[in-house]
Amino acid sequence: MIVWTVANQKGGVGKTTTTVALAGLLAERQQRVLCIDTDPHASLTYYFGFDSEELPASAYDVFSAGKAITREQVKQAILPSEVKHLDVMPATMALATLDRKLGTQGGMGLVLKRALALVADDYDYVLIDVPPVLGVLMVNALACCHRVLIPMQTEFLALKGLDRMMRTLSLIQKSRGHGYRYTIIPTLYDKRTRASLDTYKKLVERYGNSVWNGMIPIDTKFRDASNEQLPPSLYAPKARGVLAYQSLLTHLQQLAQQDTE
Ligand code: ADP
Ligand code: MG
Repeated sequence: MIVWTVANQKGGVGKTTTTVALAGLLAERQQRVLCIDTDPHASLTYYFGFDSEELPASAYDVFSAGKAITREQVKQAILPSEVKHLDVMPATMALATLDRKLGTQGGMGLVLKRALALVADDYDYVLIDVPPVLGVLMVNALACCHRVLIPMQTEFLALKGLDRMMRTLSLIQKSRGHGYRYTIIPTLYDKRTRASLDTYKKLVERYGNSVWNGMIPIDTKFRDASNEQLPPSLYAPKARGVLAYQSLLTHLQQLAQQDTE
């Protein structure tokens, strides 16, 4: 089982879109996929057609169970989606209260890791969509992943947000004892603007090989796909944006082989 956490402390950079797009493509490649929504805004949950306010169980129950969580409790919080091979652990607004409730209890940063270990045989890939806030949810999602995927909007101001995310990683890294593997994914690329290209160049200058050597273009098909509650590749298999996510996925799957060695 490979676990990827999709994180950036800035909102609107394509985290949820990246999670759904990659998950949809993996499911098409016959991989068993679990998408976990840890964002109290529940965008991913709504994307897959679940009403966040009407859920029998959710990621909140997993976190509330804490360190003593059982496989049964994890399974209860996972729902099948309309897409074959793709399951979802949905989010509820209550997730926003976890920091206050659990943030200070010891070992709370490893609950998700324990939960995933209990269903490790059920999935080939787990993708975790993370809120843009540094808190117990992000800490959990970072603690259990093989690689952090960092979507970054290709515009100048976004570089600042990225610096913040990188500082967070090195901060958490210290408590984890070893470094993170991460891939920066240039998103919302507008080939008509200088700003997009300039930002891309700056990114590569600063972060070198950690930047995927492609970009996700602006593509209106993504919004249409979310309106239809379908992963982009099912809605518009030939869209430019989908082709870009396809080549990103191929790259990430190659890295995944090294990540698990
Ligand atoms: P985040 O999860 O980081 O807040 P989202 O994935 O929800 O970001 O994206 C924010 C908005 O931008 C959404 O409306 C989404 O449909 C749109 N979007 C994301 N990526 C693209 C893209 N490559 N082209 C066009 N629209 C996009
Ligand atoms: Mg989101």
